[in-house]
Amino acid sequence: MSMGRFRPLLGIVLAVMATCLVACGGSAAKIPTTYTPEILQQVELYSPAVAELRDRFPELQGYIQKQDWVDVQSFIHGPMGELRARVNRLAATLLTKDKPQAQALAKELYVHLERLDEAAANGQQVIAGQEYRNALDDFDSFLNLVPTFQ
Ligand code: ZN
Repeated sequence: MSMGRFRPLLGIVLAVMATCLVACGGSAAKIPTTYTPEILQQVELYSPAVAELRDRFPELQGYIQKQDWVDVQSFIHGPMGELRARVNRLAATLLTKDKPQAQALAKELYVHLERLDEAAANGQQVIAGQEYRNALDDFDSFLNLVPTFQ
C-alpha cells in the first residue's frame, strides 16, 4: 500500500492546525489601542524627518506668490521629494485605528502636490495657490493623528 494517498489528508490536517495556531495567537496578542512607550519610540524615531519638511513647506507659498514656477517645481522634486517616503514611514508606526485615515490623508497630500506641480508647469497661479492650501490642510490633518505633533 502506498502512503501517497494519505499525504493530501495530512496536508489538510496541518493546514487546519496552522490556522488554529494563527487564530489563537492573534486573539491572545491584542492590538494596542493606546500608545505604549514602545510604539511611541517608533513614532518619535520617524517624526523629526517629517517635522523638517512641514517646517519648510511654507517656502512653497513664497514661490507661488512670486510666480517663481521654476523654484516651485524644484522644491517639490527636491526637498519635498522625500515627503512621500517619510510620511509613509511615520504613518506605518501609528495605531491600527488611526492608520487608514493617516494613509488616506497622506495620499491626498501627494495628489495636491502633484496638481501643484502641474499648475506650476502651466503657470496657473490661482490653482497653484488652491493646491498649496489643500496640501497644507491635509498635511496638518495628518499630523493631528500623530501623538508627537499633538
Ligand atoms: Zn485634500
